[in-house]
Amino acid sequence: MTTPTARRHVNVELLNRLRDVLGGTRVSHGTLDGISYSRDLWPRGTLDVRRGRIENRPELIAWPETTEEVSRILRICNEMRVPVVPFGAGSGMCGAAVPRRGGIILDLKRMKQVERISDQSNLVVCQPGILGAHLERELNRHGYTLGHLPGSLGTSTVGGYLATRSAGLAATYYGKIEDMVISLQVVLPDGTVVTTRTAPRRATGPDFNHLFLGSEGALGVITRTHLRIHLLPEAYFFRGLAFKNLAAGLESLRLILRCGMRPLFVRLCDEDDTATTMNELGIAVRGCLLVLIFGGGAGMVELSGRKAVEICRGLDGRDHGEEPARVWYEHRYAEHYRQSEILAEPETIFDTIEVAATWRDIEGVYRAVRGAVPKEIRLAAHVPHAYPEGCSLEFTMTGRAKAKKDLELYDRAWSLVLDALGKNGGVLSHHHGIGLQKDKWRARQQPVAETLLRALKRQLDPYDILNPGKFDGEPEDAC
Ligand SMILES: Cc1cc2nc3c(=O)[nH]c(=O)nc-3n(C[C@H](O)[C@H](O)[C@H](O)COP(=O)(O)OP(=O)(O)OC[C@H]3O[C@@H](n4cnc5c(N)ncnc54)[C@H](O)[C@@H]3O)c2cc1C
Repeated sequence: MTTPTARRHVNVELLNRLRDVLGGTRVSHGTLDGISYSRDLWPRGTLDVRRGRIENRPELIAWPETTEEVSRILRICNEMRVPVVPFGAGSGMCGAAVPRRGGIILDLKRMKQVERISDQSNLVVCQPGILGAHLERELNRHGYTLGHLPGSLGTSTVGGYLATRSAGLAATYYGKIEDMVISLQVVLPDGTVVTTRTAPRRATGPDFNHLFLGSEGALGVITRTHLRIHLLPEAYFFRGLAFKNLAAGLESLRLILRCGMRPLFVRLCDEDDTATTMNELGIAVRGCLLVLIFGGGAGMVELSGRKAVEICRGLDGRDHGEEPARVWYEHRYAEHYRQSEILAEPETIFDTIEVAATWRDIEGVYRAVRGAVPKEIRLAAHVPHAYPEGCSLEFTMTGRAKAKKDLELYDRAWSLVLDALGKNGGVLSHHHGIGLQKDKWRARQQPVAETLLRALKRQLDPYDILNPGKFDGEPEDAC
């Protein structure tokens, strides 16, 4: 990993101009604030902190409350060539919010208003800094759900979801965040405010929303969005089934999706995931556990659920009744928060590898990742989202290095996995994004698209002030 040259961008003039916009209390250059915002939840950053290295400290933190304030800040920073990194809740897993070149962290969490819930048009209008859990609680009070329920629901923001193309645990039913967006308001690097039209569909050329979905804070700052909402399910159908091998579980899922059924949640575990994560939750099942949960209108879920179970039985799936699915459902958020506990042990490493492939390629990808990691690494895998064309696959990787070689082992494992993915039809990320971690591999996997992205970045951000050093900045040596 290269260490960036610490260039100072902040001077009295900048501080005064920002205080003019935000007042005295919503700008900070305090050391502790700087340390807190020097990383997100990329485990590599945590490994650095564990060995006492705190790199990438921002010089200032700013907390805007309105689109106008964001626009004024960007105008000033563009003029003074100061880097600005949009920041949601910092739960990103690949270093996307790390202020690689110093400058300002633009923390959007004070932009947390739910502006409107429209019963008539089934949508919610909100600011980007609201935590997913707070938005969901507000929607639930009105009988709705956003349907975007990531494992990090309590520690991540709507802006972060949009900027990383996040996937909730119920993406099989509701889709990923990009499927929920009706319109966006975005502030461009020069301070211009752009608002896309709020309409259910359009044929007005390429979709402008999609320029910013997944742009990881490098093309614009999202300041408002209209998102599709859904009535809360009336009824649920829970079932846990066990398969002798992963292939049978994958085939069951494929057939269920092909018949047009959409479970609310799926979780197909490989044998290691069943024997570790699921058994630790008290689910005493062997083989490969499939959790199936349907939700919706009372009669409908029962019908779909029964049909899905029939498909699984046809592939020798053993029916374990409701209990395994109910237990997983109760722990569906808690099971994700293992990073701090595991990384508290010296020399341990931990991360999540989340990829996607078509049904044709998914088993090959599974084998390729397993075959690629060094022998010191343990993997457990599960399928958290499934679609008619294929599914995602999430590996939990844990390991222990010797003699202060933890970073080396971590980097080697990732490098081997990302190389293997390129050769086996998998995409580098299904929902965590690229960040600092996968930049180099994305450029390799899609060189033409990368050239176009860079041209777009140069056009929108000629002085490279927004989240520089990532996305389409110069590809740095990620590892
Ligand atoms: C325990 C745990 C579980 C997780 N589970 C899931 C999961 O189930 N599904 C999933 O998809 N992810 C998951 N994640 C990853 C993470 O929560 C998501 O990537 C989330 O979308 C990040 O949101 P955030 O608000 O924390 O964004 P941050 O980490 O603060 O930022 C992420 C990126 O978005 C940019 N950004 C943030 N806000 C804006 C804005 N308003 N405008 C422009 N750019 C912006 C930042 O610059 C950065 O590039 C998990 C993480 C953890 C730690």
